[in-house]
Amino acid sequence: MMIDAIEVRKNFPILSTTVHGNPLIYLDNAATTQKPECVIQTIDELYRTSNANIHRGVHFLSEQCTQKYETARETVRKFINAEKTSEIIFTAGTTGSINLVATSFGERFVSVGDEIIISEMEHHSNIVPWQLLCERKGATLKIIPFDDKGILRIDLLDSLINEHTKIIALTHVSNVLGTINPVKEIIAKAHSRNIPVLIDGAQATPHGDVDVQDLDCDFYAFSGHKIYAPTGIGVLYGKEKLLEQMPPYQGGGDMISTVTFEKTTYAQLPLKFEAGTLNFIDAIALGAAIEYVNATGKQNIIEYEQKLLDYATKKLSAIEGLKIFGEADKKVALISFLLKDIHHLDTGMILDKKGIAVRTGTLCTEPLLTHFGKTGFVRASFAFYNTFDEIDTLAKNLEKILLMFN
Ligand code: PMP
Repeated sequence: MMIDAIEVRKNFPILSTTVHGNPLIYLDNAATTQKPECVIQTIDELYRTSNANIHRGVHFLSEQCTQKYETARETVRKFINAEKTSEIIFTAGTTGSINLVATSFGERFVSVGDEIIISEMEHHSNIVPWQLLCERKGATLKIIPFDDKGILRIDLLDSLINEHTKIIALTHVSNVLGTINPVKEIIAKAHSRNIPVLIDGAQATPHGDVDVQDLDCDFYAFSGHKIYAPTGIGVLYGKEKLLEQMPPYQGGGDMISTVTFEKTTYAQLPLKFEAGTLNFIDAIALGAAIEYVNATGKQNIIEYEQKLLDYATKKLSAIEGLKIFGEADKKVALISFLLKDIHHLDTGMILDKKGIAVRTGTLCTEPLLTHFGKTGFVRASFAFYNTFDEIDTLAKNLEKILLMFN
């Protein structure tokens, strides 16, 4: 069923607001998505009727909240088709999930002389935690490059892997190039050499159908706020057999079994990795956001967003002086570009005056920008509430900016 974006937009209160006197055209969805009424209402209702700390009390509200939290975990499990709920750990977001693995997996499995492979198109969140680990342990980071179209050079993977490789950490979808990486193929290759793989799914979960069992990834990280849920909540999926071998990431309440001053034993998964009072309200709201996505239909979203991407690519490519970065055949609905030698910030600020929100700057991917010899891009990223008319308005304004600078 084709998505009717006009109808969808009615569920997102912010989309009917104005910015500088113009209707808001929100094209910064890769940074964070807007929230539907059902998510906003879930949070509001929880604080009004159900708020109490989870896993602790025997009283009514606590039990109610605990049950909702664990139901949300089950909703997440189904969403990414994990085998068990014990493999679903709530975190603060993709960054939190990757840091958890880099620290805990790193503590257990990485030592001096070992190697970790990432790619040239990673977000800083999937670079820096591994660099920190390398510094701590005396390990080395190796990089899979990409070509000028924004396609990973997986032909080079064999030459990068060796007996010292301890983990490969790779983005499923690039937040700048839009490229959908062939992660299943890479995971199979890594597994044939007994190397686990972490996938950064921050940009894949909002736009696709993720099945962690089909991918066979060892870890999968994503953020709630990029799939219509609140900020401050995210997920780490990890295979049980690996998570069980990893030490706790943080110590505190809820992650223990028993504590004495001499010795502490830890809780079973997933609580072993959920120390302290978690962001349980937003975890429950993440469940509501996923239910909303499910009701809209993942396939409907994929189809509609691909139409938006095709249309926007055609429109923007037709603008003389506009260069698109990221030309892989398989992309999600986002386009990074520059207008001649006009500074990305100028483009972004002028678009803002027209009510158009795009992202500008390094997009948290400085090594990727270095590949192209640039200091920043403009990025328009779409969600299933964006319309073809909005793309027309963006294109018209980009043409005006080019004229203005000529
Ligand atoms: N990885 C990718 C590919 C991203 O796009 C982002 C967010 N821009 C992150 C990681 C980090 O996500 P968060 O800030 O939600 O932790």
